[in-house]
Amino acid sequence: MKLFDTHSHLSLIHDDHIEQLLLAQEAKRENVLGILSITNNIQDFFTVHENLKTASNVFFAIGVSPSEVLHPGRDWEQKIIQGRSLERVIAIGETGLDYEKKYGDKKSQIDLFLRQLDLAARLNLPVVIHNRGAGDDLLSILKDKIPPRGAILHCYSEDVSFAQKVLDLNVWISFAGNVTYRNARQIQETAAGMPIERMLIETESPFMIPSEHRGKRNKPSYLPSTLYHIADLRDEDPEYVAEQLWLNSLEVFGLTDKLA
Ligand SMILES: [Zn+2]
Repeated sequence: MKLFDTHSHLSLIHDDHIEQLLLAQEAKRENVLGILSITNNIQDFFTVHENLKTASNVFFAIGVSPSEVLHPGRDWEQKIIQGRSLERVIAIGETGLDYEKKYGDKKSQIDLFLRQLDLAARLNLPVVIHNRGAGDDLLSILKDKIPPRGAILHCYSEDVSFAQKVLDLNVWISFAGNVTYRNARQIQETAAGMPIERMLIETESPFMIPSEHRGKRNKPSYLPSTLYHIADLRDEDPEYVAEQLWLNSLEVFGLTDKLA
């Protein structure tokens, strides 16, 4: 079995670089042969990239999260362009819209998001999108502005009908540990019924611990728990689901030649 964790905040699990390398190794032993390292700001991206440049199963996204809308950092767009040329940088993110946490105002969040969609198109990368309570705006923006390499809706938290709408666009839906929660009916229905060709999984570690590991801090090596849960919801063989999701990950990140 090969698994790809499409969203892990490795630097929020541990800030020590040796511990971060150990997380990547531990994940490998649990068949997590790819991890997309996510950061919320550019400074953290450069630090984590330096820390993990020898960890061959770790890939990197670069971007500015909506949480940073009031202080995205100086010359952040220029720095994304620079960061793109570093090794194993395969996505823009995380970016998106968060109307629940009320970071800044909607207009500034949308502006920060649009500028990164534009960069994703210019730099020929897919984009990793965070969405909390902003489904309508997200949908209308993506209809016009989705970058050619597509978008990943990470830590999916909407319902089946929203999934049907976004799947008409070049969108991938990624499920995190919250799909295993007892009260997550809408998310589970989506995972059970959506086309597997557009599905991904992630840990969103250190957050969203799968229920099997409740009480612990989430990390990439716990990804199999979410995989088995989704296979169960879909009534499909876990090996089959894993294989399909692995191939999907390689496709969206443009890694097919490298890792297939
Ligand atoms: Zn995240």
